[in-house]
Amino acid sequence: MFIDTHAHIHVKDFDADRAEVIKRALAANVSLINVGFDTLGNENAAKLADENKTIFWAGGYHPHHADLATDENLKKLEELARGPYGKKLVALGEMGMDYYRNLQPKQTQEVALRAQLKLAKKLDLPVIIHCRDAVADTLKILADEKMTQVVFHCFTGTLEEAVACWNRGYMTSFTAICTYEKAGNIREVIKNAPVDKIMLDSDCPYLAPQKYRGKRNEPAYVFETFNKIAEVKNIQPKELEKILFENTVKFFKLPITH
Ligand SMILES: [Zn+2]
Ligand SMILES: [Zn+2]
Repeated sequence: MFIDTHAHIHVKDFDADRAEVIKRALAANVSLINVGFDTLGNENAAKLADENKTIFWAGGYHPHHADLATDENLKKLEELARGPYGKKLVALGEMGMDYYRNLQPKQTQEVALRAQLKLAKKLDLPVIIHCRDAVADTLKILADEKMTQVVFHCFTGTLEEAVACWNRGYMTSFTAICTYEKAGNIREVIKNAPVDKIMLDSDCPYLAPQKYRGKRNEPAYVFETFNKIAEVKNIQPKELEKILFENTVKFFKLPITH
């Protein structure tokens, strides 16, 4: 089985054919973690997981929505986590720092991130970090908050930054960016990554693989990333499938065995 650790199939891009997308993922043997990034998205992610056996969920406030990570909204998220939907909640996030788009002041992003990290510790959940052009500051905040269960999703940093993450024991997940011709730097990071520190990440509907570029991305396309990782790391597909599955089940404590 393959696990897409970062999908957003709750968004409106999938309203017309969500059931078909889920069916195609199932047919391709792909389970997924549906990741919320704002208040309504977190609720919808929880519902989707509740309705589908092979879907888990994560909830949080993206740095683009950092101003929404208020005490009141985080209380709502905590209530979701402690209620019936909590059974399939496997992480908090996505949360983080984004200096590339910079849609919220740095200070607002930092306050939102720290508050969510504290909640994750309280709930004993791993965190999914979104980080663009902000690895140093993000690592500092994670160290301050003494975080140990961390994945940098859609890793796009340098090899040096990746090494800093791996040295802390943090995971890195890779999207189909690695299939783009110009992304030699990401392939270099993948090549050097310890095998126990990598996971698959579609970030759909965004970041369609090269083969489908310009189209909507979906979990079933995560194979394009899988194949690229197998090629770059020169690992047999069967072996890589096993490694990625074990990494993911262990990190998110997923209640599945195969
Ligand atoms: Zn993200
Ligand atoms: Zn995302």
